[in-house]
Amino acid sequence: MRLTRRQFEIIQEHAIREFPYECCGLLAGVRERGHRGEYENIIYEIAPCVNALYVGREHSFEISYSEYIDVEREARTLGYEIVGSYHSHINSAAVPSNNDIDFATPGQSMMIIALQQRVPSAVTSWLLRDSGGFHQEPIRVIES
Ligand SMILES: [Zn+2]
Repeated sequence: MRLTRRQFEIIQEHAIREFPYECCGLLAGVRERGHRGEYENIIYEIAPCVNALYVGREHSFEISYSEYIDVEREARTLGYEIVGSYHSHINSAAVPSNNDIDFATPGQSMMIIALQQRVPSAVTSWLLRDSGGFHQEPIRVIES
């Protein structure tokens, strides 16, 4: 996935603000095909969402269906689609949980920001390939 330095900062600031609860949000942009036929998700808009869980927000998250639909509609008016999501992990590794794997959508990137106390300690991104299989993917941060 690719995003700008400022977008990368906005996501981490959101994670810090929601501590000790998991933050979550959606990433809108386009899916681009690279030289070797590999897809890369290019992020153009960050949509911070509400963690819709009543209990267990310290170790899980949920984006409500209505908020997802609103973001998707807004993205489409800009010519984008939802190409990924992000959420934080509190005092645990930046590795997808079983719930995360269930939430994953083929072709979409899942960014995970691990916080140790209030400090981001690792950021990873994961991609569920159309052919199946959940793999870590590079995060390319560009300056503008
Ligand atoms: Zn998670």
